[in-house]
Amino acid sequence: MKQAYELFGISEKIANISDSVEDNLKEKFNEYDDVALYNQAKVLNAFKEANISQMHFGKTTGYGYGDVGREAIEKIYSHVFNTEDSLVRVQFVNGTHAIATTLRAMLMPGDTMLAITGRPYDTLCEVIGINDNPKSLKSYGIKYHEIDLLENDDIDIKSVVEYLKENKVKMIHIQRSRGYALRKAFRISELKAAIDEIRKVDKSVIIMVDNCYGEFVETKEPTDVGADIICGSLIKNIGGGLCETGGYITGRKDLIELCAQILTCPGIGKECGATMGQNRNILQGIFMAPEVTKNALKAATFAAGLFKYLGYDIFPDTWADRADIVQSIKFGDKDKLIKFIQGIQAASPVDSKAVPYPWDMPGYDSQVIMAAGTFIEGASIELSADSPIREPYVAYMQGGLTYESAKLAICSAVDNMLGDK
Ligand SMILES: *Cc1c(COP(=O)(O)O)cnc(C)c1O
Repeated sequence: MKQAYELFGISEKIANISDSVEDNLKEKFNEYDDVALYNQAKVLNAFKEANISQMHFGKTTGYGYGDVGREAIEKIYSHVFNTEDSLVRVQFVNGTHAIATTLRAMLMPGDTMLAITGRPYDTLCEVIGINDNPKSLKSYGIKYHEIDLLENDDIDIKSVVEYLKENKVKMIHIQRSRGYALRKAFRISELKAAIDEIRKVDKSVIIMVDNCYGEFVETKEPTDVGADIICGSLIKNIGGGLCETGGYITGRKDLIELCAQILTCPGIGKECGATMGQNRNILQGIFMAPEVTKNALKAATFAAGLFKYLGYDIFPDTWADRADIVQSIKFGDKDKLIKFIQGIQAASPVDSKAVPYPWDMPGYDSQVIMAAGTFIEGASIELSADSPIREPYVAYMQGGLTYESAKLAICSAVDNMLGDK
């Protein structure tokens, strides 16, 4: 289909490379089809069990008492994640808020939080108190310790076990995705191995997983292999591109109850929370999510193949077993990085005329440049690319509601970067 490339103004050179890169990836794409089929079955079963009907798409306002749609959504999430209870709310302003709510709900003054996948995602540093904030966990007397990943990016389980033997830890933090770190994301099998070792020495420590970008990438979720509680954003994988805002927490019932007391307030908990017409988006979103996540995986893998062909360092590798939807590309050059990100923006369905530049984004240490020509502001399940402006100039690209749109955008951005357009 050379006409498609031509119609979108993509150079013949990149069109040819694109076709051959894609030809090579057929087997990998078949794997993604299988995972999506399995997850779709999971989701459909959950819908059948919750007996979803038009009545669940209704809206509540004000206090939001007895919102049947909201209650059905939380049942569906619990079914999909194999958990006892869930908190799926538009009152979470983002993923960070869902994670922060979990941390604040689990930890009391004097307790210790232990991060075992190295430094947590940038925006959590102020929440924890790694960076100062008068309302951080640290300011409330909550202790924090982190264990770095090993040289090969594996969890340093030996040090984790030693630490647990010598210290009373209340909660363990695990981050499944890479975030803005040049490391691998963790497969469910790796999380299971770590959790099994932890359980041998500590039966009661709460194991929490930041599940952002991980949903539906595999057929299992962290809660299938022993995590007590997990969190994520509704404008990433699980929202299927349709959720307008929100976050989720799912896991053990007693823990979800505590989280609800922090999200709303003590005594109110889960009972309130108007959905303001978002229930259908949330339901249709999780229904679409296995397919949309698959498209994002195909886009990431295609980008990996294309950049590898062009001689760039990519991470993860084209053929790797992925654990999240993020593709890192090392540019090693500030100019090329900015050109690529601007190229993605220019090929987006929304704000294609906007030109992104580096800016100081709240919660982040270095300047960040971001391409997000998205229907939902900042939704990173839609094709988006961002990068902290720091050596070695690595772009993190993710999302793609449709594979076709992502593929066209990636080819076009590469043209922009190489000056062939
Ligand atoms: C996206 C993300 C978060 C939360 O980010 P928000 O922008 O607040 O939604 C947290 N951890 C990881 C690993 C993420 O990818």
